[in-house]
Amino acid sequence: MPHVITQACCNDASCVFACPVNCIHPTPDEPGFATSEMLYIDPDACVDCGACVRACPVDAIVPHAKVVSEQLPFVEINKSFYPERPAGVKLPPTSKLAPVLPAAEVPQRGKYPLTVAIVGSGPAAMYAADELLTQPGVLVNMFEKLPTPYGLVRAGVAPDHQRTKLATRLFDQITRRRGFQFFLNVEVGRHLSHADLLQHHHAVLYASGALHDKRLEIDGMGLPGTGTATEIVGWYNGHPDFAELSVDLSGERVVIVGNGNVALDVARILTADPDRLAHTDIADYALAALRDSAVQEVVIVARRGPVASAFTLPELVGLTQVADVVLDAEDHARVREDLATVQDMLTRQKLEVLAKLGDASAPVTRPRIRFAYGLTPARVLGDSRCEAMEFTVTGTDQVRRIDAGMVLTSIGYHGTPIADLPFDDVAGVVPNEGGRVIDPATGRRVPGAYVSGWIKRGTNGFIGSNKADSLKTIQTLASDYNAGLLTEPVAGPRAVARMVHARQPDVIDAAGWKAIDQAEVERGQAQGRPRVKFTRVPDMLDEVKDHSSLPLLQNLLGALRRR
Ligand code: NAP
Repeated sequence: MPHVITQACCNDASCVFACPVNCIHPTPDEPGFATSEMLYIDPDACVDCGACVRACPVDAIVPHAKVVSEQLPFVEINKSFYPERPAGVKLPPTSKLAPVLPAAEVPQRGKYPLTVAIVGSGPAAMYAADELLTQPGVLVNMFEKLPTPYGLVRAGVAPDHQRTKLATRLFDQITRRRGFQFFLNVEVGRHLSHADLLQHHHAVLYASGALHDKRLEIDGMGLPGTGTATEIVGWYNGHPDFAELSVDLSGERVVIVGNGNVALDVARILTADPDRLAHTDIADYALAALRDSAVQEVVIVARRGPVASAFTLPELVGLTQVADVVLDAEDHARVREDLATVQDMLTRQKLEVLAKLGDASAPVTRPRIRFAYGLTPARVLGDSRCEAMEFTVTGTDQVRRIDAGMVLTSIGYHGTPIADLPFDDVAGVVPNEGGRVIDPATGRRVPGAYVSGWIKRGTNGFIGSNKADSLKTIQTLASDYNAGLLTEPVAGPRAVARMVHARQPDVIDAAGWKAIDQAEVERGQAQGRPRVKFTRVPDMLDEVKDHSSLPLLQNLLGALRRR
């Protein structure tokens, strides 16, 4: 029986390289890999060896015989990626396995080994560190402004998607590699400048993401009860910047503008049974607020039609397994119209799922989600707080009103400028060629500056898409280093720690993070949860201080690790 890739697929392609018969596609060298919503196993070519299961960082691959009911749609989704053929007939054999890109070799050129500062600690940062540390002697110092690492995997992935969060197991392994050092609770641009980092490193790689959400500039946004879906994501995930957010769930309906995966995440959490969320790492205050919530319906509104839905098929399928999702009769009609004309297989599969959704005229028996299509946001209505949202039917002057106690926009993320680097305001990225930062004014490289992840390519792709992206940046960086284009640091590896401690005495190292991590996990164990997060920076710092009674020993161990 073949294996099946399920919803949690992170697209990092570890499975592709583990597969001995090249039956997982698209591979990173094939067209469509960068935009693929997931990877797919060819059931007729799979030899059932299980190598992919061991390679997958998020436990997304299961043997067919162990597929549970909510994963069943993925059997067909995997199969349908491959062309129809008579039973037992395999695709023409590919003579080659997916080509593994060679690691970027960096023989030491000067007094110090290649030393790279990475800014950020999310997936793009971690995959870049992983690639660099394949080479003996290379040193990686990772700077993160929060006391906790792993970016959107910790603070973005929804708490009911614990499998996706398993990527942190891989990240933990990377941080234990020889040559890796954490500088958490340190903000580049505040405690340290680009020039400070360049003095102590051959290169600085920015993988700081694109955390600012795009704003909808219409009347009424800003009224109490309006906000963005990403603020809610930060809030329920216990991100310290959003822990104090005032989230009023006393209204019966919430409107979310935009229908990407972030909108689906927020709608799912706002309508979930709190008892189910109680087994996750959701922030305690958010769980308490959801237990008191009056929300009965979340309406996810798109300005275009079903055929242009921004959510991915795996997320849509996953949503329909756990939530009541409905459509109005007129949107069911739109789905049927789109189905009659659509050619693209993936879009067709999404439409087929939408076509099977229940009708919104049915009585509401538990909090539910409604998709609404063809409505362009016009304004938010309300005197002292949000009471409703007004739309026009897209392309017409007809006005539609949806009453709602809360209006959230979920219209995508946008990068923000990084101090001392050029910036493309329109694309929201740092201009670059293959990850090498280029100043558009001169057409020249910005010495020692590199980018990876969303700040390099824009806000698309999934956690694992950053693996191939970061690999390309590291290859560029390595080739510049080998060509002698990077300047030797002015001081040895220990000087950077002295500089950071002088600028930010509350810097947290790997031992400090371990103390926070262990304390969170222990707090969770008592309640049968993966962890109970600290959500305030002072509490995190207290936890680190309580566990750093042996700072000298830790420093010594840290120094030994870097030998
Ligand atoms: P997104 O996928 O880009 O979706 C943005 C939505 O906002 C679209 O429906 C878009 O509609 C709409 N929109 C944009 N401007 C608008 C405007 N002025 N008025 C009305 N609607 C507007 O954004 P996202 O949901 O924030 O996701 C960002 C990325 O993170 C995506 O790559 C997503 O797949 C990824 N992500 C993945 C997961 C997961 O795999 N579980 C979870 C979260 C996020 P139009 O198409 O009409 O422009």
